[in-house]
Amino acid sequence: MKTNRMKLATRLIHAGEPQQPFAGAVSMPIFQSSTFLATEGTPYHDLKYIRLNNTPNHQVLHAKLAALENAPAALVTASGMAAITTTLLTLLKPGDHFLAQDCLYGGTLDFISQDLAGLGIACDFIDYRRPETWKDKLRPGTRAIYVETITNPLMQIIDLEEVVRFAKRHGLISVVDNTFASPVNFRPAEKGFDLSLHSCTKYLNGHSDIVAGAVIGRQDLVEAVRRKLNHLGGSLDPHACFLLQRGLKTLAVRMEHHNRTAMVLAQFLADHPAVEKVNYPGLARDPHHNLATRLLDGCSGMLSFAVRGGKQQAAAFIQALEIPLCAPSLGGVESLITRPAATSHAGMSPEQREAAGIKDQLVRVSAGLEDPADLVADFRQALEKVF
Ligand code: PLP
Repeated sequence: MKTNRMKLATRLIHAGEPQQPFAGAVSMPIFQSSTFLATEGTPYHDLKYIRLNNTPNHQVLHAKLAALENAPAALVTASGMAAITTTLLTLLKPGDHFLAQDCLYGGTLDFISQDLAGLGIACDFIDYRRPETWKDKLRPGTRAIYVETITNPLMQIIDLEEVVRFAKRHGLISVVDNTFASPVNFRPAEKGFDLSLHSCTKYLNGHSDIVAGAVIGRQDLVEAVRRKLNHLGGSLDPHACFLLQRGLKTLAVRMEHHNRTAMVLAQFLADHPAVEKVNYPGLARDPHHNLATRLLDGCSGMLSFAVRGGKQQAAAFIQALEIPLCAPSLGGVESLITRPAATSHAGMSPEQREAAGIKDQLVRVSAGLEDPADLVADFRQALEKVF
């Protein structure tokens, strides 16, 4: 079936699926075989072997993921971090330099500042609000620019079109971590990004039951990452491939619900007297609203807000909730809630958090697929209990 002219919801279900279903199976079977028959002389990278990420389960996923973002190629990896680390290690060698947005996922930030720095790969951070200053950070050895579609935990949006223009003007490879937006809300290749990375652990799988990642984009770059991954070994297990493929089929309907629920919650919180500030680009009063309207098809299910008071009030509020589960991660069917100062950003000093705008009373929510009215009622009762 030729799906390239079909809408995303159709591509999610049919793109990449075998032309001839195996044994007539409507659902892709799991190929739980580490190795496959080979003919003499098959080159190493073309042997079929789970670590080489090329079993039938991987191949279906690669075609489906590329189709979702209208990109030439895709590769699945053992985790989002495997996608990020393998990509950066492919693009950069000792002595190289790259630019990265100043607010990144903590694991990425640690990898850049500890591991890459240790290998002699330097990074300068750019202020997402001031594209006119990015040029000052360029060096003769600058090779790439790395950003995120929507940042954690303040839901900031960099001008993604400007990132691509800047990269093209200066001969840099542009890379975006598209985890928070998902391909339903943003498709980086359509805007000219060279590579898009995902923690498929989140929205793409959507059920909080696997860890997986993806690299999507230019054929030559994905192929280079694949070769590096074959050596580093961050391959996805076939059973996790099966679960990811199953999860992907419902991504469009899930994202629509996540987008809508987060908007309903953001509106409720923005009008509540116990809430100081809400960070959700879908809100007309949010400073990133114009960029979000121009660049994204939806603002995802992620939002954060600061309650009045401090750490105690925020912790008591989380404790008083009945529906959201207090756990890290995001993008699952169940709503999840955390206090970033105590979880994802606990590694930063209080001064660093203060400078980044991450207050002790900031609460981050991954809106799940529960009925939005039930979530609003639960948030209302918890706020009433504490304030
Ligand atoms: N990128 C973002 C934006 C994330 O939030 C995360 C994890 O929370 C990752 C990457 C890493 O993904 P994983 O946990 O699948 O390795």
